[in-house]
Amino acid sequence: LKPNYDVVIIGSGGAGLTAAIQAHELGLNPVILEKMPKIGGNTTRASSGMNAAETNVQLHHHIVDSFGDFYGETLKGGGGMNNQALLKFFTEHSALAIDWLADHGIKLDDLTITGGMSVMRTHRPSSMAPIGGFLVTELLKQVAADQLPLFTDVKVDELLVEAGKISGVKATTPDGAVTITAGAVLLATGGFGANKTLLGQYRDDLKNYQTTNQPGATGDGILLAQAIGAKLVDMDQVQVHPTVQQDTDHAYLIGEAVRGEGAILVDNQGARFVNELDTRKNVTAAIDQLGGTGAYLIFDRGIRDRVKAVEFYDHIGLVKTGTDLEALATATGLDAATLKQTVADWNQAVANHNDAAFNRTTGMDRDIAAGPFYSIHIAPAVHYTMGGIAINPATQVLNQDERPIAGLFAAGEVVGGLHGNNRIGGNSIAETVIFGRQAGQQMFKYLQ
Ligand code: ADP
Repeated sequence: LKPNYDVVIIGSGGAGLTAAIQAHELGLNPVILEKMPKIGGNTTRASSGMNAAETNVQLHHHIVDSFGDFYGETLKGGGGMNNQALLKFFTEHSALAIDWLADHGIKLDDLTITGGMSVMRTHRPSSMAPIGGFLVTELLKQVAADQLPLFTDVKVDELLVEAGKISGVKATTPDGAVTITAGAVLLATGGFGANKTLLGQYRDDLKNYQTTNQPGATGDGILLAQAIGAKLVDMDQVQVHPTVQQDTDHAYLIGEAVRGEGAILVDNQGARFVNELDTRKNVTAAIDQLGGTGAYLIFDRGIRDRVKAVEFYDHIGLVKTGTDLEALATATGLDAATLKQTVADWNQAVANHNDAAFNRTTGMDRDIAAGPFYSIHIAPAVHYTMGGIAINPATQVLNQDERPIAGLFAAGEVVGGLHGNNRIGGNSIAETVIFGRQAGQQMFKYLQ
């Protein structure tokens, strides 16, 4: 660790890694500091993919999309509360971000769909592997090729300001406290879903929920920025993810792709109760109305084969299996007759492309007919914090008067406003790459 760099990037998730690569390509000398022993943050846990519109990948799949639709559907999904300047930048730079990744050998050639979106715009690797681990592994190859300094177990405790401009950070390393000077600092520290105190402060009702977040998601960047006058927005907007397996001592998010590829949700009798691909907010509300029992994802071999992560969930014992629906009902504790009727009705809806019962219109490309059959017990858990630091589309952190704090930038989940009151699946990974690139570029511009 040297005493000076051009830029200090705090956090090694998708936003931090992307920004470091972009900054380096423009000739800057960045350092990445990560407080945890493990690289990758919550990004490594992302499952669905990366949303983008008007991409060549979509055209290869014969999907004609538009920035306008992507913008409108995200705004609708976010309850109209989204910061529209950020959302405009986000949607209009999404295809460029997919291209930028491809230019770095990171190909997201397959497509799936998430709740609230009308077309397949969730890009993922052709292996159908979960996006997060894939993206972090691939970005780290570039970080290694560029020989960028990255230190784990280094926690930033304070932002330093001189004459109204950011001048560096104070950090704790395994060898003690250090001061690092830098012309610009990027907060890429993620959200606060794993900080019960902060969560309780803004959302007392959620403090007893489990979380899908890594233990380092404690909102440090938000508090660091707040301490030097940054404005915070939407801090009470917390996303509860509807489908989290939490019967063991760890909460495992069962990605939206399982539903996107055709799974249904049933109650503890075996009956459907919701449009499974409604927004996360609405699906969560429907599950909560069941009265604390949680719900069950039901799918078959064909759907399982389209979501590689299910193999892992099965391997660690989260999946129940039945050779036929009767056996699955028994293994899961559902009423067999109800489940059989539910699946028969659903398969008819798929055949007719018409879900009269719940008006589902997406993720209806395959029925649930080829055994073995599977179920996963799920319930909602704290997943993502939509609120955070206020920035402008140039990723500059804003003060209470909405003026940039010179030299301080933020990107990724630490930022508030982009997602309104509900984040769409696949938009967080997109946010880290789109705004990570933007931060790298804007720090270069600022330091020129
Ligand atoms: P994003 O998706 O926005 O990139 P992630 O959650 O993937 O966010 O990554 C954020 C990373 O920042 C995590 O690995 C987290 O441990 C790290 N981090 C959080 N606070 C600090 C801090 N004070 N010092 C260094 N690293 C931090």
